[in-house]
Amino acid sequence: MMVNDAVKASMSALREYMAREVQRAPKPPAEVLARAITPRDYTQYPVYFIWAPGSDIASRTDCGHGYYLTDSCPCCDAEDEDHIDS
Ligand SMILES: [Zn+2]
Repeated sequence: MMVNDAVKASMSALREYMAREVQRAPKPPAEVLARAITPRDYTQYPVYFIWAPGSDIASRTDCGHGYYLTDSCPCCDAEDEDHIDS
């Protein structure tokens, strides 16, 4: 009983915390939402695409290597590293 209550309390605390984070996080501009999102959009607006309404889109969008944006893709990771080096 007490464990259940503690779990419920922490789950609702987490939901409240994420709701605040989503509100504070930058929203992608309308032109980004009007087209197909890219891995770059996903890394630029992570909170929106992971937690907010955008998570639906991200989990259905292919990053271009056969993975969904919500999955971690070895090809995208490699591209990020190249980008940092240059
Ligand atoms: Zn990829």
